[in-house]
Amino acid sequence: MKRFEEILNAAAFTHGDLVRLLKAEGEEIALLFEKSTAVKAQHIGKRVWFRGLVEFSNICEKDCLYCGIRHSNSHVKRYNLSDTQILEAARFAWENRYGSLVLQSGEIMHPAFADRIEHLLCEMKKLTKGELGITLSLGEQPHGVYQRWFAAGAHRYLLRLETSNQELYSKIHPEDDHHLFNRRKACLESLRSIGYQVGTGVMIGLPFQTYDDLANDLLFFKEFDVDMVGMGPYIEHEDTPLYASRNELMPLQERFKLALKMIAVLRILMKDINIAAATALQAIDPMGREKAVKIGANIIMPNITPGLYRNDYALYQNKPCVDEEPAQCRGCLDARIALADTEIAYGEWGDSKHFRQRAQRKRL
Ligand code: SAH
Ligand code: SF4
Repeated sequence: MKRFEEILNAAAFTHGDLVRLLKAEGEEIALLFEKSTAVKAQHIGKRVWFRGLVEFSNICEKDCLYCGIRHSNSHVKRYNLSDTQILEAARFAWENRYGSLVLQSGEIMHPAFADRIEHLLCEMKKLTKGELGITLSLGEQPHGVYQRWFAAGAHRYLLRLETSNQELYSKIHPEDDHHLFNRRKACLESLRSIGYQVGTGVMIGLPFQTYDDLANDLLFFKEFDVDMVGMGPYIEHEDTPLYASRNELMPLQERFKLALKMIAVLRILMKDINIAAATALQAIDPMGREKAVKIGANIIMPNITPGLYRNDYALYQNKPCVDEEPAQCRGCLDARIALADTEIAYGEWGDSKHFRQRAQRKRL
């Protein structure tokens, strides 16, 4: 135990230290969470920011082997919200003082798609008098497209690397030119150079993933100096090729515990970044996101996709709240966040403190 405490309180972590922290059990987990909670209290405070999540289309050109809405899954009923429906969702977020919105969908790399998003961004900015912050999560796109979307008002972008281990990446994606680890990484560089606040993340508990891999993921976040991380447990989907490897998986509850440990260690490692409490946590434990907020996360993304379509955005099985409407989600979240001894920062963008400080350092 002494050794564990020494590591926990060290000024910096080696790869070996991170592995040791991620392997915490019993009393050690309590110590780890105590430390990450204290770091969060000191550097972030009690507040949590909302990002209304609009999953506006499940049409995707890619075929990631783990994802329920992959192109080749013919069981999925495809949908694409109209511009009016998307703008209505933006109005809902703004009127309910969510502060910001995340636009997410399957990946489509096409000029008409790029034009549509650019137009929607301009309309959203007008509609909400520039008050609503906008995050995009629309996968890999050409540098020029990222630039246009930034110019049109998006200021944050979420693109999970999924894993920092290139070999593991190739095991969970088809081997073709559309699923390249290096291109995904290059997109993160592109986004950073344009001026976005960049968020990335990984799935936790993937088949063939090791503690070494997860420690390297944490080191990758640190080295890339990310502004935001959204990471959650991998949850198998029976209509995907990776389902065949389900015997390689640790039990769901173990994946959940490991995801919380990853969040706690990351909070200690990168004290002032934004960390999202992933929805996939809630798919395993109804109080999953609240538990994540308690030990380090500070961002929650309530789903504000119109209820009718939620069932069809099934990236993984048992996705929570698929039967609810946006307004119900808010009531339910208010109650839950209160439980976690947290205040919701209504009407604020909740930009990453880390990003702001880097920008200030640059100006000096
Ligand atoms: N198409 C975009 C955004 C939508 S997918 C993109 O891929 O970036 C958003 C995230 O859902 C992915 O980055 C992935 O990490 C997560 N995801 C997909 N399938 C999952 C599964 N089976 N379990 C857990 N997370 C999953
Ligand atoms: Fe498409 Fe994203 Fe799913 Fe991959 S993870 S299949 S890009 S929606």
